[in-house]
Amino acid sequence: MNILAIGAHPDDIELGCGGLLIRAARQGHNIFMYTLTRGGASGDPAQRTSELVRSARFIGAKRLWVDNFGDTKLVLGSDLINHIEYFINRSSADIVFTHSLGDTHHDHRAVASSTVEAGRFVPNILSYEIPVTRDFKPQLYYDISDVMDDKIESINIFWSQKSKMFLKSNAIRGLAEYRALQSRLNTSITCVEAFEVLKLCFSKDFALLPFSSPHEDSTRKELDLAIEDIVEAT
Ligand SMILES: [Zn+2]
Repeated sequence: MNILAIGAHPDDIELGCGGLLIRAARQGHNIFMYTLTRGGASGDPAQRTSELVRSARFIGAKRLWVDNFGDTKLVLGSDLINHIEYFINRSSADIVFTHSLGDTHHDHRAVASSTVEAGRFVPNILSYEIPVTRDFKPQLYYDISDVMDDKIESINIFWSQKSKMFLKSNAIRGLAEYRALQSRLNTSITCVEAFEVLKLCFSKDFALLPFSSPHEDSTRKELDLAIEDIVEAT
């Protein structure tokens, strides 16, 4: 499947669904990552971008796109929606992961709302949480027990953010262990990533419905011209 993970800042994707992505990449799925800002509000944008590139390689992403929106300046609107839609189409995403609609950070909320609109033709959209997300209501659980250490390693790549309390591995592992307990699965499952369902479509045999028709992409031509500044890495 084609899986697109969207994050407002470098490290959001890794914190929210890094375990799932690492596992999915190892299983041969195509992982795409799209980050809207370079995190200039809490660090050197160039350093944070290079950490993101390293992390995407560690995860095994097929493609990473890093956009140029201003950190803390994200607002729900056509600009954000069009950019997200452009990369949804570039990745032919069967599943999109994004922030939670009720997240405490306004950049995160803007990305979540924009993804819902930009992803209107995407069959499956899920929200992830990070350790400081509040009012998160998980509906879908995914076992990451065997890749938990790898998830921590991917987050440790972000050395520039070491002062952030929630980047400490005990918070990240603690959240995963709590979600594993809450999922009431079996005792061999020790670490879980939890998700809110924004949209989920089953096929007739109850598998996840894949992305199907190429819809008219009116934004693509216009954005192709402006896309030069975007960091694209594999
Ligand atoms: Zn963030």
